[in-house]
Amino acid sequence: MKDVPQIADNFGRRFPYLRLSITDACNFRCSYCLPDGYKKTSSENYLSLEEIFRLVAAFVGLGAWKIRLTGGEPTVRPDFIEIAHGISKIPGIQKLAFTTNGYRLPERAKDYFDAGLNAINISIDSLRPRKFEQITGHNRLGEILEGMQECFRSGFKTVKINTVLLKGMNDKEIDDFIDFVADKPISVRFIELMRTGNNGNYFAQHHLPGTYVTERLLQLGWSLKPREEGAGPAQEFKNSNSMGTIGLIAPYSEDFCKTCNRLRVSARGNLHLCLFGEGGYSLRQLLQSDDQQEELQNKILFLMNFKKSTHFLHEGNTGITPHLASIGG
Ligand code: SAM
Ligand code: SF4
Repeated sequence: MKDVPQIADNFGRRFPYLRLSITDACNFRCSYCLPDGYKKTSSENYLSLEEIFRLVAAFVGLGAWKIRLTGGEPTVRPDFIEIAHGISKIPGIQKLAFTTNGYRLPERAKDYFDAGLNAINISIDSLRPRKFEQITGHNRLGEILEGMQECFRSGFKTVKINTVLLKGMNDKEIDDFIDFVADKPISVRFIELMRTGNNGNYFAQHHLPGTYVTERLLQLGWSLKPREEGAGPAQEFKNSNSMGTIGLIAPYSEDFCKTCNRLRVSARGNLHLCLFGEGGYSLRQLLQSDDQQEELQNKILFLMNFKKSTHFLHEGNTGITPHLASIGG
């Protein structure tokens, strides 16, 4: 295991963290992401188990130690458990996380943990059942909260909740989420709504700046925690009266890109240097045999020359991402 990741860009940033999408498909219809549900295309052609293992091994060989499985909804893949189990056996992986909408979590949490997953992010946009249903298209809040408890019982030490901040939908719930974490060792992270190719009108109606959350936290005496190594993009806030923490992911903030430490690979094997950057660079032809590992690693290192210092969301340029289900949020 190498101490220092070798994947670096021309701006001095290093990349120990890979977010791997394993499917575009999803069974929810979140209003900001897939309001009409997932539409199957003729060429799903997602990475196979072998391709996934070769890809992750190459990244780990270059110093990556944190992998997040995402999508779409990663758990809709019938071989999700095999994927997780296989990745968890690759020497050098320290953290194997996934982001999920929590579908059927009560009965599945233990299988996920036993497969080697050790960190879970569950998306919960509202603690009010009717609002939750309005946002996600599913009346499943109770089941997902039960699933969250089951994660602790199953052995997960890291349980986080993702909440997209939505004006007129859940912006009155900040205090409810603060109360919710008071007696639980979890982190709720509010995500500032991102504008994508498909959600322009929705964005105009529902976007709120992340400062809306931080101002409230500071008002209530919460303070910013120092950033941990390999951490994602959230700023984390703590309060001595609370077991849990509250985080904020604010991609429009000035310094968001300075601490970028993650790369993304899509479900069809395209390396995305930035969530909003470009169409991606295909790695797939180098995932066909174990003999190609060195060539694959050299390609990844070479492509880092094209990583830009920042995204251009501020100028309203969303790159080509139609919605985050197509590349994993
Ligand atoms: N289906 C899984 C889930 O929802 O947790 C994983 C994939 S989803 C694309 C990953 C995260 O991105 C979720 O927490 C979701 O709420 C968030 N997300 C999706 N679209 C977004 C947008 N336009 N702005 C901000 N966050 C978004
Ligand atoms: Fe599906 Fe996740 Fe997008 Fe919701 S945010 S529609 S659960 S991919």
